[in-house]
Amino acid sequence: MKEQTDNFPIPVPMQAFIDGQWLDADDGGVFEVTNPSTGTVIAQVADCGVAETLRAIAAAKAAQAGWAKTTAQERSTILRRWRDLMVAQADELALVLTRENGKPLAEAKGEILYGAAYLEWFAEEARRIYGDTIPSPSPTSRIVVIKQPVGVCAAITPWNFPNAMLMRKAGAALAAGCTMIAKPAEDTPLSALLAAKLAQDAGVPPGVFSVIPTSNAAQVGRVLTSSPDVSKITFTGSTNVGRILLKQSAETIKKVSLELGGNAPFIVFDDANLDAALQGAMVAKYRNAGQTCVCANRIYVQRGIYADFARRFTERVRALKVADGEVPGAEIGPLINVAGLEKTERLLQSAVSAGAEVLCGGSPDNAGALFYKPTVLGQVTTDMDIAREEIFGPLAPLIMFDDEEEVIAMANDTDYGLAAYAYTNDLGRAWRVGEGLEYGMVGINEGLISNPVAPFGGVKQSGLGREGSHYGLDDYLEIKYMLMGGLGR
Ligand code: ADP
Repeated sequence: MKEQTDNFPIPVPMQAFIDGQWLDADDGGVFEVTNPSTGTVIAQVADCGVAETLRAIAAAKAAQAGWAKTTAQERSTILRRWRDLMVAQADELALVLTRENGKPLAEAKGEILYGAAYLEWFAEEARRIYGDTIPSPSPTSRIVVIKQPVGVCAAITPWNFPNAMLMRKAGAALAAGCTMIAKPAEDTPLSALLAAKLAQDAGVPPGVFSVIPTSNAAQVGRVLTSSPDVSKITFTGSTNVGRILLKQSAETIKKVSLELGGNAPFIVFDDANLDAALQGAMVAKYRNAGQTCVCANRIYVQRGIYADFARRFTERVRALKVADGEVPGAEIGPLINVAGLEKTERLLQSAVSAGAEVLCGGSPDNAGALFYKPTVLGQVTTDMDIAREEIFGPLAPLIMFDDEEEVIAMANDTDYGLAAYAYTNDLGRAWRVGEGLEYGMVGINEGLISNPVAPFGGVKQSGLGREGSHYGLDDYLEIKYMLMGGLGR
């Protein structure tokens, strides 16, 4: 096993993890992983292709029947051990995560514990995969419903939560009795490889969980989606790539779970607790420098409190500390890569040229090549690109509105439907707005809504299926109905 120790507090695997073995790419190829805060190359990881992916699929297929036959108790114990190992090394894992992703260390630690919490949750849920009995129409038969694992699953995961997005897929899959092949994002493969190492230490059998790093996501994605041996694709990432994977999966009629982009409205009514709304907006907008799919993308503020909200929000945003995630007190890290920085700059420029006003920020930050100042934009209108596209950067557009029906209509005027937020102290309004928003998740008077016990997922073009919660296992289970006949004497 090749590990890198130079840049990290713990040895980090640099190879693919296939069938319980650590392997180089067949051609010995590697790709570089860069710390986005410094631009330094921190690792060179095995660059897998078609042959390695096929090998991982074959290993998963071979392991599938044995894993499905384990008792729920056995799977639960292994998942629990995996979780315990992750929590025990949370500080070291967080530092590696910060070095590959850039997010502040405190957020990285939070992510590791959040990822581990999915393993814990699904360790518990593994034992509750209940079936059903249904009264039969015939006196001589009985109807029984059981649930069985769907089989080999492939997970394609993003760079913005390199640990947690994978753990919430792997926890559910393994709890259900499925095997999994994971393809982490090319920007952040290290957290996935470390998770695989912990899985191995926890006793996950060979082939049950494999990780294939690659710089050629499209090629590996095609192998995974076209293989008849892969029963399910689970993806978190952009809507565009989700659409490609859904199309590619059509040929073999795979089950597909997609957690895609968002364009979250964050609505503040003039009857809201303003302090709470400000606090919620900070969390919902600036976590991970604005690079989450549930980040507030459009902040709608009612006319009566608009000026006050804009002034106080801008004060808070101006005070955010922009720095390398390892610097104590850092609150805003870098964008993940040049494309992320360029998109942020493009959306800002097009908003300004269409009449938006920069209330603070509005330019790159000299903390490093990929840093952008946390920015608040006033006078934004719903037709601007910044209000229509997923921003994925530290820009907060403020949009004024007048009444409830108008703001619900504006909020729903998008192809996306992942998360939405609304602040109001009027109970009737909270229900009307909560029910009226066409989103999979709504935070009322809360800016942080993700947790393992609740169903995460979107409607419209934000996705298919739900992750976490007791619903999260359904996507990894098939329902089988058995008719037990011939019971008459
Ligand atoms: P982002 O734009 O946030 O980087 P992506 O959707 O491009 O989001 O990336 C999410 C994941 O999808 C990553 O693991 C990436 O490597 C992978 N990916 C990107 N393009 C493809 C593709 N054509 N087929 C399969 N996976 C892909």
